[in-house]
Amino acid sequence: MSEQNSHLVCPHCSATNRIPAARLNAAPKCGKCGQPLLTATPHELNAQTVSKVIQKNEVLTIVDFWASWCQPCLMMAPQFKAAASQLPQVVFAKIQTDKYEQAAAPYNIRSLPTMVAFKNGKEIARQSGALPSDQIVQWVRSLNA
Ligand SMILES: [Zn+2]
Repeated sequence: MSEQNSHLVCPHCSATNRIPAARLNAAPKCGKCGQPLLTATPHELNAQTVSKVIQKNEVLTIVDFWASWCQPCLMMAPQFKAAASQLPQVVFAKIQTDKYEQAAAPYNIRSLPTMVAFKNGKEIARQSGALPSDQIVQWVRSLNA
């Protein structure tokens, strides 16, 4: 049986890394810039990185689509951050849809905030509306089962 590898895009330099599944829980570092590939806080995506992170990441990746004018989004931000710190092997990322309108358009977001879960480049679930951190954690765990 061949060793299972997962692609993981570095949140710092956007290099695609190939990580053996067994090393995902051992604080893997980027082969290019040497920084941690899995961070405890959500990283901000931009027009260049959003499609790369979503398409290349083979590990579960949760993207929070939010906007600066959206009060529930701003209220959920610390909850999303708290959930990220509890699930270190899941990638948590955010995209500001009013700043990167074109980049967010392909995901067909109808209300904000919406969290979309991706795995192996495909959407596997989405959840609209602000949630407290424990419910975010519960939702993400249910996807990772
Ligand atoms: Zn890197």
